[in-house]
Amino acid sequence: MSEIFVYVEHFQGIVSDITYMCLAQAQQIAKSNGGNVVAVLLGHNIELLSKDLFADEIITVSHDSLAEFTYDPFAAVLAKIIQDKQPGLMIFGDTSIGSDLAGGLSARLHLPLVSFCKEIKAEEGKLRFVAQICGGKIFAEGDLKECTSLVTLSPGKFKAKDGKTTTTPKVSAYSLPAFEKSRITLKEIILPSGEDLDISKEEILIGIGRGIENEDNVSLAKELADALGGELCASRPVIDQGWLSTSRLVGKSGKTIKPKLYLALGISGAPEHVESIEESEMIIAVNTDPEAPIFNIARYGTTENLLDISKELIRSIQKVKGG
Ligand SMILES: Cc1cc2nc3c(=O)[nH]c(=O)nc-3n(C[C@H](O)[C@H](O)[C@H](O)COP(=O)(O)OP(=O)(O)OC[C@H]3O[C@@H](n4cnc5c(N)ncnc54)[C@H](O)[C@@H]3O)c2cc1C
Repeated sequence: MSEIFVYVEHFQGIVSDITYMCLAQAQQIAKSNGGNVVAVLLGHNIELLSKDLFADEIITVSHDSLAEFTYDPFAAVLAKIIQDKQPGLMIFGDTSIGSDLAGGLSARLHLPLVSFCKEIKAEEGKLRFVAQICGGKIFAEGDLKECTSLVTLSPGKFKAKDGKTTTTPKVSAYSLPAFEKSRITLKEIILPSGEDLDISKEEILIGIGRGIENEDNVSLAKELADALGGELCASRPVIDQGWLSTSRLVGKSGKTIKPKLYLALGISGAPEHVESIEESEMIIAVNTDPEAPIFNIARYGTTENLLDISKELIRSIQKVKGG
């Protein structure tokens, strides 16, 4: 197998977890099919970012025009690298940046692209993809072509820790190719307000979904969270209603969580939510629908009404605490 390239996504001096997951996937392919794993790192002042990338080689392009991500310069540089090096496969994270680049490069270089991959398996010298399409309702499988194939990989199957190493690989600087002035200028990055907590760091999380039914019931979930010593987070319908702040959104458009306990109340388990809870140590689901997909990932579950369960749990915890 020829080389497997991985695009290194980073923001404000930190490599994104999805990049390490892509490297773990690339390493798995290299192990069964051979070939080197090459991380492609674009940016400015990026020397320190390469230190723990689990790759045989890192290609870096450092220039102030790449200090912040905008499509035009990044796509132009990547297009040149792909044309020069002709990797067998290039993996991007299934993120807004990864999808932007992979889609654009596919059109620009006439290369095949498979989006929303859950996994790429090496079978008898061929690469087979499994992609989750139509909002996760359909699994599509197929062979990757033998030219450079582009894929975007969704989180879930691979752990970020498996894409990290303590041995710094060989780093090769690639000179900046000429490209036209970017059509887009980055004016400002607006970060979420710092006043709320960072749910990605919480150990006990109570997630509320549409099953919570109305805003008044949110206070019951909050009471349960307090009793358990945890915090509230939510699926998208709850956030869209404005019942909790955006910083508490779990999922594709929000945060990835890794708590010791995730208690999901009235959450169906849509792929956009599930992809961000898979690293939780224990998931307990409360959902009146026994067919809800959340039960596929939960360790324990009940089909009781979440309001009854919440009240009962609060009562039991208070009893144990002697309150
Ligand atoms: C591009 C894109 C990005 C997205 N990003 C995100 C994201 O970041 N995060 C996210 O969460 N979603 C995201 N979504 C939306 C996602 O597809 C789902 O629509 C959403 O996760 C559903 O939320 P839910 O499970 O709360 O609601 P529903 O799917 O409506 O599920 C509600 C569940 O509650 C159960 N229920 C109802 N009443 C009770 C009760 N009394 N007791 C117990 N159970 C009860 C029902 O059986 C049902 O399973 C995204 C979608 C797209 C297309």
